[in-house]
Amino acid sequence: MENMEELRAAIKGKKTLVFGPPGCGKGNRSKDLEALGLVHVSSGIALRAKVRDDPDSELSKKAVDFMKRGELVPDDIVVPIIMEHLNRDECRKNGFVLDGFPRTKDQADVLFSQVGIDLVLYLDVPHKFLLYGIVEGNRRLCVDCATGYSDFDPPRKEGVCDKCAGKLIKRTDDNVKTVENRLKLYEEQTKLFLRDIEIKATVEILPITVSDEEVIDDKYLKKLKGRVYWVQTDQGSKARMLNLEGMKKRLYNLLAETFIVPAKRD
Ligand code: AMP
Repeated sequence: MENMEELRAAIKGKKTLVFGPPGCGKGNRSKDLEALGLVHVSSGIALRAKVRDDPDSELSKKAVDFMKRGELVPDDIVVPIIMEHLNRDECRKNGFVLDGFPRTKDQADVLFSQVGIDLVLYLDVPHKFLLYGIVEGNRRLCVDCATGYSDFDPPRKEGVCDKCAGKLIKRTDDNVKTVENRLKLYEEQTKLFLRDIEIKATVEILPITVSDEEVIDDKYLKKLKGRVYWVQTDQGSKARMLNLEGMKKRLYNLLAETFIVPAKRD
């Protein structure tokens, strides 16, 4: 993407949504969109902030129980929190990227009946990589800006965020059991209504793998740490995977094709 200012101007005010399973990179893609001026609205971050700021309220106690188990927090708690965020002036003026919401069909119905979404980005990541990326990749997140790192995409200085120098922490729910539960819920409840979403908004697939395939061993995978690395696809073959910078470039190209190219054609 050559002209960032052109892209910033084209995307201003857009209402976007990142969709995909836990660990697919919704947080990092949201950060890429935030860098273009959109407001990042994450249901996970909003819930964790609510629990942190007001730990003794009934709402927080109820939410935290579900979150610890990797289960979905009930809609009557999540929906008002998110809709309140989206109605803020900053979201109306600058546009937003919604991350982690909707996760149930009811959440999707409320969202799409009240807000017109310009673009849904579906992050297509081989299933086998998700658990691997979060648990074996030792995922850690910035407490301030929520940028995610792993052993594949490590920060320049361990424990410190490259982008804002915030502290990096491991999420307490990033353990095998909870992540498996979150993946199961995604398959059972969330992925199913992607078809409904396709009727209501433009959905673009953002794949994380590069097309050429090759058989490669784990040792090599470790060697490629932080650059391009390899992942087993759901079909059982190995595919090259883009790192953070690669994905950002792919995302910005897709945004340019969606919002700049058609406008120039008109
Ligand atoms: P996340 O940071 O998106 O992985 O979310 C962390 C946890 O917050 C999830 O495992 C759920 O317990 C809860 N959560 C986040 N978003 C939602 C949502 N849209 N609906 C219900 N629960 C949610």
